[in-house]
Amino acid sequence: MVDDAPKVFPEGRKSLEELRAEWVACDKCDLGKRRISVDGQFVFGTGTRRSVMFIGEGPGVEEEKYGQPFVGRSGHLLRTILKALNLKDFYMTNLVTCRSCSPRVDPQGQPILRKNPVTKQNEVAYQDEPPLPKYITECSPRLYEEIYLVDPIVIVGLGATACEALLQRAITITRTHGETRQIAVPGAVHRPQLTPGGKWARTIKKVPIAPTEQNQVFYFFIPTLHPAYILHKGIQDRDARSPFNQLYADISKAVQTYNSYLEVALGQPVAHTMPSDDAVWESYIASTQED
Ligand code: SF4
Repeated sequence: MVDDAPKVFPEGRKSLEELRAEWVACDKCDLGKRRISVDGQFVFGTGTRRSVMFIGEGPGVEEEKYGQPFVGRSGHLLRTILKALNLKDFYMTNLVTCRSCSPRVDPQGQPILRKNPVTKQNEVAYQDEPPLPKYITECSPRLYEEIYLVDPIVIVGLGATACEALLQRAITITRTHGETRQIAVPGAVHRPQLTPGGKWARTIKKVPIAPTEQNQVFYFFIPTLHPAYILHKGIQDRDARSPFNQLYADISKAVQTYNSYLEVALGQPVAHTMPSDDAVWESYIASTQED
C-alpha cells in the first residue's frame, strides 16, 4: 500500500513553515539540549524566497533571546549594508539553529554569573563559540532543505566556518572572499514519485523519499567575511583594503548578481544603488551612536 493522499506541491516542495515545525523542538545535539535547559529560542531562518540568501555560523545571545537571526550587533552591521544597497529581498539563516556557547569562567575556573534583566535572577554567563563540526553535521539536513525550499538566486556565506561547511573544504577566507563559486545541496527531499498505482506521492509506505545524488541542486555562492569579524578587527580601519570595505564589496557583488537576474526575469532595468564605502561606513557609525 502507498500513501494515496497525494500531497503534490507545484514544485514538489514543502513549505518553510512545515520545515520549521519539524525542527523547532529538536534536541538531536548538545546545542539543542542546552537551548531547552536555559529556555532559549530556536532560531530558524527568515526572509524572502528566491532572493539573496545569507548563511552565518549560528545564533548569538540576542538571536537566542528574540528567536530571529542577525538581530545583534553583527546583524545590525549587515542590515545597514543591505539597506544602503537598497536590497529588500533577502533571506537569513545559520549553519545551526541553536546557540553554540560555553559558560564563562573566572581565573579560578568558577562560572561567572550575570543578572538576568528579565527575571532579575543570577544565572551562568555564556560566551559564543563556533559550533563543533558534529553539531553542524547534525543540523545540515535542516540547512540543506532550507536552502532547497528558499531556492535562492545567490548565496552569501558569512565567515570561514559557514563557508568551509558549505564548500566542504578548508579555505583561507581572507583570500577566497568575493570569488563566485558553486555549492550543491541535495534536492527534492520530498520529490513527488509515481506510485505503482500511477498516482503522484511524496512518500511510499509513509517513508519520505530520500534525496539522491542525481537530485543535487547547484547554487551560486559568494564567500565573505563575517560581520562579527569586522567588528572584532576594528570597524575604525578605513584603509582601502579594510575588512569593512571587503565585506561591502562582496555583498555588493551578490546584490549586483541578483539584480542582473531580476532584469532578465522581469525584462526591464533594475535600479542598482551602490553608495561609496565611506558613505555606508559613516551611516553605520552614525547609527551606532544613536543607540
Ligand atoms: S543545532 Fe540543529 S541539530 Fe542541534 S539541536 Fe539545534 S536544531 Fe537540532
